[in-house]
Amino acid sequence: MSDQLNDSYDAVVVGGGAAGLNGALMLARSRRSVAVIDAGSPRNEAAEGVHGLIGREGMAPGELLERGRAEVRGYGGHVAAGAVASAAGRAGGFVLTLEDGRTVGARRLLVATGMVDELPDIPGLRGRWGRDVVHCPYCHGWEVRDRAIGVLAGGPMAVHQALLFRQLSANVVLFSHTTAAPAGEEAEQLAARGIRVVEGEVAALEIAEDRLAGVRLADGRLIAREALAVGPRGRPRAGFLAGLGLYPDQHPQGMGEHIAADAAGRTAVPGVWVAGNITDPAAQVGASAAAGALAGAQINADLVAEEARAAVEARAQARPGGQVSDEDSDEAGAVPEPGRPERV
Ligand SMILES: Cc1cc2nc3c(=O)[nH]c(=O)nc-3n(C[C@H](O)[C@H](O)[C@H](O)COP(=O)(O)OP(=O)(O)OC[C@H]3O[C@@H](n4cnc5c(N)ncnc54)[C@H](O)[C@@H]3O)c2cc1C
Repeated sequence: MSDQLNDSYDAVVVGGGAAGLNGALMLARSRRSVAVIDAGSPRNEAAEGVHGLIGREGMAPGELLERGRAEVRGYGGHVAAGAVASAAGRAGGFVLTLEDGRTVGARRLLVATGMVDELPDIPGLRGRWGRDVVHCPYCHGWEVRDRAIGVLAGGPMAVHQALLFRQLSANVVLFSHTTAAPAGEEAEQLAARGIRVVEGEVAALEIAEDRLAGVRLADGRLIAREALAVGPRGRPRAGFLAGLGLYPDQHPQGMGEHIAADAAGRTAVPGVWVAGNITDPAAQVGASAAAGALAGAQINADLVAEEARAAVEARAQARPGGQVSDEDSDEAGAVPEPGRPERV
């Protein structure tokens, strides 16, 4: 998938998933020089299809991203395979070093490296991830409808998750695993919706003929299940941002860690934007792409403002006396005062 990398760009996008590619598309269409550097492991790579995405419902994740890369290239953007190992510098002069030793400069950065799902450490579970071990009712719920579904409790959202999966199947049980069994109103809700609580620690998943057959408890019981929903914690793929003084925080809704940013993706470090799962662990493909598009547009606007300021200064310097006049400010794109006609 690799393009040659230039020495530097207006913007470098780290991560070529939905968020990064849509950000790059906006930048390339704004006639910005842009490169996407992508390690090639999107979070949903284990899934057969992308669901809940209008116009591309069920498309294989790899095919969606291949189309995105072609679209970015179609506007002159570069998309290179590689993993960013470290970052240094500041707005206007960032330098990224890749694991293979290449370096690339950038005036602005869009970091869209996604997150790692920290899965429960239960034998047999990891190998079923994205197949019959799932997390999101909107991504795979339809695919497991009417099946025997288990929900593995692991945090405060377990009962909520069980109720969501109950919308898709009448056969749902909640495994309390290492947590206390729900009590009070939560217990009432589960009972009223016919969701049985199975107490006791889960020891392993039983697999037969490449399918989940059941959940084995530490006391030896086997509960037959065809799908198991888990609630992984998110860990942002953000180690290389330490060189810029940017570190993960706890996600406010208890979904693990994330890189904090404002609604447009602007981080605490000037010149660095984030989009997608690195900042919003709940974002699906559509939301990640939208966030990337917004961040890409914001980066372009930030560069436009910087270039307008520089143009005004350069023009003033070229004048005898080097003064910035009202005329300079207006022509550089200043918004006219209300009631004052715009010069044409
Ligand atoms: C099993 C599963 C199924 C899912 N199914 C659906 C679904 O059906 N519908 C839906 O809408 N959502 C689904 N999702 C959620 C979906 O995966 C995310 O919404 C989406 O991947 C987020 O996009 P992103 O661009 O933020 O990150 P990603 O898609 O994870 O892309 C990040 C990219 O950055 C790269 N990268 C990481 N670190 C570096 C680095 N240092 N240097 C260079 N590149 C780097 C990665 O290799 C990756 O290619 C699913 C998730 C999982 C786990």
